[in-house]
Amino acid sequence: VISLGMPTKSIITTCAYCGVGCGFKAEVKGEQVVRMTPWKDGKANEGHSCVKGRFAWGYATHKDRITKPMIRERITDPWREVSWDEAIGYAANQFRQIQLRHGKDSIGGITSSRCTNEETYLVQKLVRAAFGNNNVDTCARVCHSPTGYGLKQTFGESAGTQTFKSVEQSDVILVIGANPTDAHPVFASRMKKRIRAGARLIVADPRRIDLVASPHVRADFHLQLKPGTNVALITALAHVVVTEGLVAADYIGERCDEKSFREWQEFVAREENSPEATAIITGVPADQVRGAARLYATGGNAAIYYGLGVTEHAQGSTMVMGIANLAMATGNVGREGVGVNPLRGQNNVQGACDMGSFPHELPGYRHVSDTTVRMQFEDAWGVPLPSEPGLRIPNMFDAASEGTFRALYVQGEDIVQSDPNTQHVTGALAQLECLVVQDLFLNETAKYAHVFLPGSSFVEKDGTFTNAERRISRVRKVMKPLGGLADWEVTVKLSNALGYAMKYTHPSQIMDEIAALTPTFHGVSYAKLDKLGSVQWPCNDDTAEAGTPIMHVDGFSRGKGRFVITQYVPSSEKVTKRFPLVLTTGRILSQYNVGAQTRRTPNNEWHDEDRLEIHPHDAEERGVNDGDWVGIASRAGETVLRAVVSERMQPGVVYTTFHFPESGANVITTENSDWATNCPEYKVTAVQISKVAQP
Ligand code: SF4
Repeated sequence: VISLGMPTKSIITTCAYCGVGCGFKAEVKGEQVVRMTPWKDGKANEGHSCVKGRFAWGYATHKDRITKPMIRERITDPWREVSWDEAIGYAANQFRQIQLRHGKDSIGGITSSRCTNEETYLVQKLVRAAFGNNNVDTCARVCHSPTGYGLKQTFGESAGTQTFKSVEQSDVILVIGANPTDAHPVFASRMKKRIRAGARLIVADPRRIDLVASPHVRADFHLQLKPGTNVALITALAHVVVTEGLVAADYIGERCDEKSFREWQEFVAREENSPEATAIITGVPADQVRGAARLYATGGNAAIYYGLGVTEHAQGSTMVMGIANLAMATGNVGREGVGVNPLRGQNNVQGACDMGSFPHELPGYRHVSDTTVRMQFEDAWGVPLPSEPGLRIPNMFDAASEGTFRALYVQGEDIVQSDPNTQHVTGALAQLECLVVQDLFLNETAKYAHVFLPGSSFVEKDGTFTNAERRISRVRKVMKPLGGLADWEVTVKLSNALGYAMKYTHPSQIMDEIAALTPTFHGVSYAKLDKLGSVQWPCNDDTAEAGTPIMHVDGFSRGKGRFVITQYVPSSEKVTKRFPLVLTTGRILSQYNVGAQTRRTPNNEWHDEDRLEIHPHDAEERGVNDGDWVGIASRAGETVLRAVVSERMQPGVVYTTFHFPESGANVITTENSDWATNCPEYKVTAVQISKVAQP
């Protein structure tokens, strides 16, 4: 514990880590944060916090912070500190020169789910209005892009359906591919409290996570499926619901598209989708699937919570739609205690998606080809806008390797560490004529950059984050940006240097513009956020003042809920004699994502390296003991980790986290990706493991 003296004031703000979006009081002495205290009126956390939000904010003033802009002509040159004007002028000139030489589509930008709504909105506006193309994407590409696609297709809105508080009304909780104890701790506590009070629990996960059996809760069913077989499992659950007459016929008749339901019903009822037939695929005994399906369908209010174990698969979008199908078929959407709830990884991944950070969608999930919508933005922004979707992140890498994509602006995202198949990413970045990185630290991506622009942490700026329950909360400036400019100010300067004028003097003006142009945000303003603490979108004239806690109450956003056929397709990542085990990945409580923030805090004392969990049987076969070093090789690459022999694993499956760059978890993951969104298949990589000497 570091003593920084007594605070003299406190400022309400929002945690910058996970998608729970806990409210905090930043207790401040001068411009120095003394401590973070969970805010008892914060609706997402009601006065609770975890070890990240409460203790891991010291990175904001860590000695590694880069506070001076820097440029270099070649990535082998040393960095040269320059003024903001010189750095931004250099970047703008490079972007324009490259466009003149290679066309306007040869450059693009990546927004950050760690930045505010206002900042991500500005980056996508910069790309569309100043660059003149739709080559903008976000790190949601590699996590929850299948959620956006799948829930839009079925329900009509790319967002979770409930508030966190809704879990207090649940009778059955189905957790699929999520480990909330580690990744969403404050919500996990709320969920466990409800389970201790009597709610039944089903966990579908390849690993025996804490929720399955802990001192506090125990799952009624643990469907311990093989990685990559989610779709077979969800369809088998649906098979039981349909063939045993457990569908909510009245609900479906009133609320859902009849034709799509009939086709889906016929599909899931096929014998090939029965628990008995699919057990060979999933590894889950048929009686477990039948029991879980009956409990979910008949146990009262049933809610589904899912995470990246659903989305980060080649069939991630299919699985999201499978989840939506099951919820609709049993009438579990549109009231307290039920619903479909993606647990978002990053603090503002929902917001980054809402703000139009995708190459095919303007803010509010409206397609760039929609002439009416595009004209609204053209009128407001004063420039013609492109109607063709731009490049997704993996397409940018491919185009860079081919020489048609030449420059990139990356705000607050370490794509080298977080994207799969590191060698492919670095190979592509090394081809760029100009890479501009804006970040707190010289991260792995900055090794390939020509311009480095100092970023600002959440205590250095005003703005808003949107959490996993669509709750928009204020982020408030506690201290001046260490580099002199907040991230949104940097984007404004860059746009102005490119000749497209942005005149904002405060983020509230950006939110006013977002609200004016985005129907689901029409009722959002800083004045309202200051008054109410937070609101949930949709928030407009058709909703309550604080927005919409539960979605699809009187009907689905798309009108009738749509069922989608979920045909299981095996992963192309095959287990073979050479690669006999399947690697899957996840997070640990004390660290956060690529660790850029938490590794620079005392949280490192709890967990200071990524390790490989392996089942005792697989370990014994290879002569591996707890603590031994093991080499891990896949078709993409190889790395070395320390082994943890653990009964949490099932035989044939190994597991690691991805918080430390030196562990190289993404050196071994492959480029396989979701068919609809290109979200990488991080959760299924065939590997071989062998004992090695300490590196
Ligand atoms: Fe921050 Fe998430 Fe922990 Fe809340 S649960 S304090 S939002 S990391």
